[in-house]
Amino acid sequence: MKISPALPILLAGLSGVSAFAPSNVARPATARMATVEEEKTSFDPAVVMGSSSRELNQMIKAEFPEMSFITRKTLSKSKMVEMLTDAPTVSAGGKVDWSVQKGAATFGLSLDKNPIETASPTKAFPNAVEAFPGALTNQELVQMIDATLDEAGYDREKTLVACSLCCDEVNRPLENDIAGVYTNNFNMGGLAGFPFGGAVAFGAMSAHIPDGGDTLMVYGPHVGVDSKGNIGTVERRGKENGGSCCGSAVAASGYVADVLSGATEKAAIPDDPLHAQQAYVSDMLLPYAERLDTADNKMQELPYALYDAQQDMVGRIIEKAAAGVAGDGKIAVLGGVQINTPAGFSDYFLPLSFELYNNSGDLVEDFMSSTNRPFNKVKEIFPGALSNAELVAKVGQTLEANGYDKKTTLVATSLCCDEVNRPLEDAFSGDYDTNFNMGGLAGFPFGGAVSFGAMSAHIPDGGDCLMVYGPHVGVDSKGAVGTVERRGRAAGGSCCGSAVAASGYVAGVLKGDEPATLPEDVVDAQQYFVGKALLPYAEQLEKAEDKMIELPYALYGAQTELTKRIVETSNTDGNVAVLGGIQINTPPGFTDYFMPLSFDMHNGKGEVQKQLWS
Ligand SMILES: [Zn+2]
Ligand SMILES: [Zn+2]
Repeated sequence: MKISPALPILLAGLSGVSAFAPSNVARPATARMATVEEEKTSFDPAVVMGSSSRELNQMIKAEFPEMSFITRKTLSKSKMVEMLTDAPTVSAGGKVDWSVQKGAATFGLSLDKNPIETASPTKAFPNAVEAFPGALTNQELVQMIDATLDEAGYDREKTLVACSLCCDEVNRPLENDIAGVYTNNFNMGGLAGFPFGGAVAFGAMSAHIPDGGDTLMVYGPHVGVDSKGNIGTVERRGKENGGSCCGSAVAASGYVADVLSGATEKAAIPDDPLHAQQAYVSDMLLPYAERLDTADNKMQELPYALYDAQQDMVGRIIEKAAAGVAGDGKIAVLGGVQINTPAGFSDYFLPLSFELYNNSGDLVEDFMSSTNRPFNKVKEIFPGALSNAELVAKVGQTLEANGYDKKTTLVATSLCCDEVNRPLEDAFSGDYDTNFNMGGLAGFPFGGAVSFGAMSAHIPDGGDCLMVYGPHVGVDSKGAVGTVERRGRAAGGSCCGSAVAASGYVAGVLKGDEPATLPEDVVDAQQYFVGKALLPYAEQLEKAEDKMIELPYALYGAQTELTKRIVETSNTDGNVAVLGGIQINTPPGFTDYFMPLSFDMHNGKGEVQKQLWS
């Protein structure tokens, strides 16, 4: 079993709150936004254009105090310029400031709340975000928690917080910062952050929730990042050598490595509290031994493994003890990795799950259901796949380096009809405005040379074109390929349905069935062409170890051929960049992916100029 620390890679390039967007905060403009519009000062575009990223970031912080957490990594330079210079676009209601609304949507924050003050240091520590991309400062975290729970109907005065964080004194500042909003926390945690108080502690905590109130549980392992960027250690007050952080976790990782290598036997849990807790930590880490062993950076992977082990234990506690919460009290559960930093800097917390349960233990809402949420199974099945956000960012950089200007670029897509494929188009639209749609069933560019010609005629003057094509394939929550959970349906069914139908057809022809002929009626023509284009791949599919994984590759081959013939008909002044690959759909609440297989630059006559990505 090889599980890479996928999350840091997936979130690389994103920072802070952009990696975390609670689903419930994209709500209509409020009066607060109108106020912001009134306060908005205009910047001289010439000054803005000539400013460095650092200066732009400072201007944004001054202009939008509610987004003071924005780091330079969060926004591209062009986005910052846009925020500072674009005239507010007034909605039909006449009250919406474009950039603030867009910012709110991007960061998933409610804007009509006063920023929360926290007691612990707020000074940024970039090493922490570099080691754990997506991590929030304590202050950002508390602000995010408060905004999210407020939306969910929590009352600060009637909320009891239960923390399960490691014994280590470096973990108290987070509890103190949360206490600044909700008062003292119930403490369920023990070594390495496991909720060793168990179901009994949760039951006791439930009995302490103020009448009519709710609870928030915060749990997670912790890991130090020192001033040199080393992971798994941190400078400590008054000590020359910091040592391990988390010490319990590092000790347990040594034990599981020894068991894996056979250097030591799996130990029994001692029947004595003197040593029991650490033995449990080691025991619960044991299923992750191989994953830690194969990790590029064991100290970085360790807290992710511990988080998984703790998530399992927390799930069992909720299942067993949720009923102890009275009335219609709710249970919010935030899990993640706590990151300790040297003295004087803010600590961080990387949220990995934030869910709301009722007191029957049923999941009511997934606060982290965000279009940026990674779905780790995809990268194991389709190595090299990029999340939609990663793809759009990477494509943007490549095109910009090749003289493209977003304002004069037209995106043409050829993706399957299936509604699960629109998020990728939306992601590109965020940068390039709405797309020209050449695609039909299974993602073939059925608009053909005519649609390509029409599209070319729509490219802004002096601009260029980006064409994105490819088949799609679903990966469901269990890792099955060729299907995916669909909104509001108990059974997901095929994904891509057209492709799966065509694969059945070509398998039949391979066995001797009569090939179909062009149907007289146009209503049946497109699927016929999908089947015909797939026929040359019938044997390749038949021989494949996993037909459902092979199918999109075969379709990609067929589509590349048709696309090539279409692009050869180009007649435009600008360039035509053509990106081909496989689009991967995931269950609701997770980002989709795209595995790039070719990205070539053509001139306006359709001739290949260079390979953009190899
Ligand atoms: Zn610890
Ligand atoms: Zn489809």
